[in-house]
Amino acid sequence: MKADVKGLTLDGQRRSGETDLGLPTRYDQAQLEAAWQNKWEQLDVYRFDPNDRSRQTYSIDTPPPYPSGEFHMGNALNWCYFDFVARYKRMKGFNVHFPQGWDCHGLPTEVRAERTYNIKKREVPVDRFREICVKLTTEYIDKMKAAMQSMGYSIDWSLEYRTMDPDYYKLTQLSFLELLKRGFLYRGEHPVNWCPRCETAIAEAEVEYVHSDGLLIDINFATDKGRLVVATSRPELIPACVALAVNPTDSRYANFVGSEAVVPVANRRVPILTDELVDAAFGSGVVMICTFGDKTDVRWQHKYGLPVVKILDSQGRLTAEAGKYAGLSTSKAREAIVRDLKESSQIGGSKALSREIGTCWRCHTPVEILSAPQWFMKTKDMTDQIIAQTNNVTWVPDFSKNRMIDWAKSLDWDWVISRQRSFGTPIPVWYCRQCGRTVPAEKEWLPADPRSQPPRTASCGSCGSHEFVGDADVMDTWMDSSITCAVHAGWPEKLSEFKRLFPADLQPNGLDIIRTWDYYLMARHLAMFGKPPYKTVLVNGMVRGADGRMMHKSYGNYVEATEAVKKYGADSVRQWAAAGGSTGYDIPYRWADVEYGRKFLTKLWNAARLILSWLQDYDPNLAAPRLDLLDRWLLSKLNNLVRTSSEAFESFQFSVAADSVRNFTWHDLCDQYLEAVKYRLYSDRPEAAESREAARFTLFRTLDTVLRLLAPICPHVTDALYTELWRGDGKSGTIHVDAWPRVNEQLIDDESEKQGSILVRVLSEIRRAKSERRLSMKAPIKNLKIETGEEVAKILNRNIDAICRIAVVQNVDIAQIEPDAGKTESQREPEFKLAAEF
Ligand SMILES: [Zn+2]
Ligand SMILES: [Zn+2]
Repeated sequence: MKADVKGLTLDGQRRSGETDLGLPTRYDQAQLEAAWQNKWEQLDVYRFDPNDRSRQTYSIDTPPPYPSGEFHMGNALNWCYFDFVARYKRMKGFNVHFPQGWDCHGLPTEVRAERTYNIKKREVPVDRFREICVKLTTEYIDKMKAAMQSMGYSIDWSLEYRTMDPDYYKLTQLSFLELLKRGFLYRGEHPVNWCPRCETAIAEAEVEYVHSDGLLIDINFATDKGRLVVATSRPELIPACVALAVNPTDSRYANFVGSEAVVPVANRRVPILTDELVDAAFGSGVVMICTFGDKTDVRWQHKYGLPVVKILDSQGRLTAEAGKYAGLSTSKAREAIVRDLKESSQIGGSKALSREIGTCWRCHTPVEILSAPQWFMKTKDMTDQIIAQTNNVTWVPDFSKNRMIDWAKSLDWDWVISRQRSFGTPIPVWYCRQCGRTVPAEKEWLPADPRSQPPRTASCGSCGSHEFVGDADVMDTWMDSSITCAVHAGWPEKLSEFKRLFPADLQPNGLDIIRTWDYYLMARHLAMFGKPPYKTVLVNGMVRGADGRMMHKSYGNYVEATEAVKKYGADSVRQWAAAGGSTGYDIPYRWADVEYGRKFLTKLWNAARLILSWLQDYDPNLAAPRLDLLDRWLLSKLNNLVRTSSEAFESFQFSVAADSVRNFTWHDLCDQYLEAVKYRLYSDRPEAAESREAARFTLFRTLDTVLRLLAPICPHVTDALYTELWRGDGKSGTIHVDAWPRVNEQLIDDESEKQGSILVRVLSEIRRAKSERRLSMKAPIKNLKIETGEEVAKILNRNIDAICRIAVVQNVDIAQIEPDAGKTESQREPEFKLAAEF
């Protein structure tokens, strides 16, 4: 049923009958939120309807979190943003697709499994180890899911997926095979970043750069032309030195160039080269090229065709190439080599050096550069395409786009996608033992685990051998999670669905994972489908602790979402997420903000109960009565609020959306209008009947609209009040599938807003006068004198009856005074002066 009252169309259905939840006197968030969460589940409110072709779809590709078992305030903020959008779009009439998954594979779980069960990965069969990891992951997922549900997120749990499940990881494997077929993947031996503790290759995105204090040590090299001093911070790599280099413009060394030097410790003769990348001002201006000390070494080795000395093994220990130092860790080798060089007087001075070093994102161990056969995706070649498509996507806020572009440009190497780990998606490839030919799985073989299964082929297509070796590695977990846009959309089976849901309308994620999540999604989907996977990227900043530092357990400023929910309720925590800061910027977690949210909801609850008591038997279909000034004032402000709020949600400015509706509700509706309208509602004078109906008309529309505007942010409390407001036809519904309010232009009335605001200011002044004298608001004023200018006097004269009744004034005297001509703004007297005689 739609009520069309003087052009005022209400979107919604007035429902009758008892709500099963009722409306307790006190706002009790714990009881209320749990009850509504259950009810939404029962009503299937958030299910995406694949059969509904009438509504436009809106698809959100949420990043699947790593199941750590914890859901902190940073996560809470992320998901609040997703949920605000999902709820807003649902009310705007979209068929919203809001799945949730879990990015299960990876190192942290392996480490935890080893610790929890006191086992070593290598001592347990692969299948058994995997089982243990799956069990742990499942427990963590359950915990995080419970936290998410307590926050009231409108996730469609029927779409839940786990990347470790065979029906998901078979898609990861399928995408691997597709990319291989299209020429985007290759296997080769190239230097890669390597974590010696985790014993695996890691991608550039997984290297974190930190400041480290070291020592720059001068080492003497004998050359054919005399002594050369080389300054190095890594003397342990001297056995891997394959050349020395100087800047071509460095005249100090001009006569050394082209001759050879003898590497101390290794006694190898190496060439002395020139290269413009050598910084003549750093150290002595002579550098040693070691294979591999850093990325520049990798470039030089390639450029000058230098030999490769594999000095480090997978655990970061020196190899046989290091002679007597073989088997030592890098730090032990450093000590030993420096000691030996001192003894042979081949060491000069040293000085402190502060530099950036790469560390493993997971365990913070300094990474090394190692060369071993790995699988790569050809992402370097895609850089221009990625940047072009990044520019075609909407980024909120706009500056976050640069993070993606800068990152794409900064990458030196192709993406290494193989990992020497266990709990991951197996690489679906075998190798012929005889001739080494690569045998990729067929589509029908998936899911496949070459680590424990033979290929379903009898013999090698090249040499006819019957023996195969399965690839022992697994894939980077980003290989699992960077195909979600396509998987959610129905790839590879539901192609008609795919057309509707791909690309995703929204890609929301944290600022910190643009370089991984957004980048890998873009690269994978461009390679597979030739299209960017998302239309809009919504970025949220990080949550800082109350002390301004990043939230971290070791800082003592860490808060779990469930703790905050338990204390103040999800609707209050969600207000913090919305109002705590601008979209895309870091926001602090402040308990005071959440507490304010709770206070606001108590205010709203009490106001709504009062309004509901006045609206008993109210029929919203009745034609609009003649409205009083303050009714017109409130309804005009309300419709401006609808405009502000809609624009805020459209542009993802949640703080604007939250603040505007809270300010309106608290100040305009509760402080002003409700106080001013009471006398009309309590009056039983027959001649006041029309005015009473006008107030009820205004209150019904205002409460209805405020609840809808607030529904995406505070879904529980708004649904409880809304259901009560629309009690009508026996079926209890929910606000979350009813319509978002539209601006009613006819009710926007600047003149009424202006006049109403003057009246409101006069009434507040009177209230202040009473409270200054510690009088009740009902205390009568015998005489009220108001001095003001012509224009305000006119307005007040028209509203003398209202002033008298609202403020309990017996006599009002409005005196017109001359305007303050010739005075500047700051010198000017206030608009009016009050004198009250009690
Ligand atoms: Zn590591
Ligand atoms: Zn073969």
